[in-house]
Amino acid sequence: MIELKTPAEIERMHVAGRFVAEILSEVIRIADVGVNLLDLEHHARAMIKRRGAQSCYWDYAPSFGRGPFRNVICLSVNDAVLHGLPHDYTLRDGDVLSADIAVSIDGWVADSACTVIVGTAAEEDQRIVRATEEALEAAIQVARPGNRLGDISAAIYAVARDHGYPVNDQFGGHGIGRTMHEEPHVSNIGKAGHGLKLRPGLTLAIEPWFAQTTDRIVYDPDGWTIRSADGSRTAHSEHTVAITEDGPLVLTRREAEAPAARETTPARLP
Ligand code: MG
Ligand code: MG
Repeated sequence: MIELKTPAEIERMHVAGRFVAEILSEVIRIADVGVNLLDLEHHARAMIKRRGAQSCYWDYAPSFGRGPFRNVICLSVNDAVLHGLPHDYTLRDGDVLSADIAVSIDGWVADSACTVIVGTAAEEDQRIVRATEEALEAAIQVARPGNRLGDISAAIYAVARDHGYPVNDQFGGHGIGRTMHEEPHVSNIGKAGHGLKLRPGLTLAIEPWFAQTTDRIVYDPDGWTIRSADGSRTAHSEHTVAITEDGPLVLTRREAEAPAARETTPARLP
């Protein structure tokens, strides 16, 4: 069942969204060569505790995981892209780090992810990070009343195709609100003009993720961490977005987030 949210409920999700943005900004700020993934986990955990928020990952136990998840953030490095289990690993120069976090405040959830490169960035790695950000912004731009779910999926797929990245269809975005994962599934592959009609009050986590040279994935023995099957590097960008009468409202926008490549800049007055 798809639950449409009232403007007041969207505002409550925005409270959670601003906090998720705050945690991600802090994690990105701290992530650097020589920093351990467990330090990032502990930092996020402390922020959540101080705020009195609930982690949506703690004790999360879907069919594919191996027992409940006992962390508050997913940290995926290089060829790892989704559900990366924080572990004793010290970041090295040029590592590609994806951080993904979802929290609930007063019963309303927000979910967001971003990818950064620590130390010296390889050009190819920068390109895939930018591609997922560009795909996310392109998808957000079409997340408006009257369009269809397929327009979001097609927008993501078009950016991937332009960059030559294959797209995996097993994991994608999702409805979100009172819980982290709600209907509908938001595929990263789709046909424009097809699927569910987008209506004001629909709230979605939109999350393009690509690997450089494969659409296939493999799981680590931990049962959580998902990697590209061929070991190629990956990136992941996610925002929680509300569809409103006025268009898309991004609930998890980070303060220092650079405008995406495809966003148009209004003309300046002389
Ligand atoms: Mg997420
Ligand atoms: Mg998500």
